[in-house]
Amino acid sequence: MNAHHAASTGLIHHLYAPPAGFDAPQPGVFKASTVFFPNVAALRARQWKDKSGYTYGLHGTPTTFTLEERIAALEGGLQCLLAPSGLAAMATVALALLQAGDEVLIPGNAYGPNLALAQGQLARYGIAHWIYDPLDLNDLAARINARTRLVWLEAAGSVTLEFPDLIGQTRLCRERGVTCALDNTWGAGLAFNPFDLDGAGLGVDVSAHALTKYPSGGGDVLMGAITTREEALHLRLKLAHMHLGLGVGGNDAEAVLRSLPSLPLRYAAADRAARALARWCAAQPQFAQVLHPALPTAPGHAHWRQVCGAADAAGQGAAAGLWSVIVHERYPQAQVDAFCDALRLFRLGYSWGGPVSLVMPYNLNEMRPSWPAHLARGTLVRFCAGLEDGRDLQADLARALGALEGNS
Ligand SMILES: *Cc1c(COP(=O)(O)O)cnc(C)c1O
Repeated sequence: MNAHHAASTGLIHHLYAPPAGFDAPQPGVFKASTVFFPNVAALRARQWKDKSGYTYGLHGTPTTFTLEERIAALEGGLQCLLAPSGLAAMATVALALLQAGDEVLIPGNAYGPNLALAQGQLARYGIAHWIYDPLDLNDLAARINARTRLVWLEAAGSVTLEFPDLIGQTRLCRERGVTCALDNTWGAGLAFNPFDLDGAGLGVDVSAHALTKYPSGGGDVLMGAITTREEALHLRLKLAHMHLGLGVGGNDAEAVLRSLPSLPLRYAAADRAARALARWCAAQPQFAQVLHPALPTAPGHAHWRQVCGAADAAGQGAAAGLWSVIVHERYPQAQVDAFCDALRLFRLGYSWGGPVSLVMPYNLNEMRPSWPAHLARGTLVRFCAGLEDGRDLQADLARALGALEGNS
């Protein structure tokens, strides 16, 4: 400290700098709004387009750059942007790539808030949306026209978990010259490579990923990522991202960086538990249908096998730890609610991908224009396997079935 300065100044402008070269398992946490420039020439030379330097906390720190690079690598991409939530990442894609007069296509089983964004903000801005059948490639083909600028893909779809012909959909978008963006939250960069679906380099243009789910893994962080392989597309997204003022906090980025090394182990464990429980559910007479893409009877199972079948060495394929059941229509809503309330290890709550198993009833009548032909009638309940012991989870389900029957 300089002896000529007052204590207040000395505490702020302290001369000590720790030695460089600190090396440890976890990268450091950098937090900033202001970033210093050594001189005006350096200030003028810096720009926001790449990771060659730092301009302002919102435009990146060593911590967020590190997380972006790791997510890009996880997904098989080359560039990545972080957003404050998965939904913010998806909204950024729409706002960056669409303008008045354009059309966007969204699958009927899309993540609900992505559709709400199209019905709300995008409609107000003069951007039309159309819903397509994720299980019918011809329906998607028929809806692409000269105004279509963006096609959203989702594999597996939200809540009902149908696995689409992802290769066919992506190839179709390529042939028709339309940008396709995948909501890759379910696959998490592990079940398949969104930028190389067929092993010959066929890939989506944009992968949007709710890091809130498996990459965080704690149920305690909200974050999204937008990954690409093409610099020009990345810069369009980055410009919108900058204009919208989107950024993530250093502590949140650190929390995800801390969870990433265990991501493949957690994903595989949740997959194993969910598959065993989905198979068990399929044997219970109270459930008219069980939806999990690895079940041979699931809608889109062959497409799941085609894209995700090679993800593990044992030939079992890979899937997220999600499955849904359709409780037989003979059970009134109140009894299905009693079943959900009777579960103790499966907690009632949105989101998934954390340590705690979750349950959520859904009203498909409110979510789809009509009841999908491939789904049994009844009440849909979605489960997410956490990291608890699978036998305890099965016992919890078995006990709650008593409440479904009215003997709680
Ligand atoms: C959770 C989720 C999102 C949104 O992520 P948030 O961080 O909660 O905004 C988007 N897509 C899918 C498929 C999701 O499950």
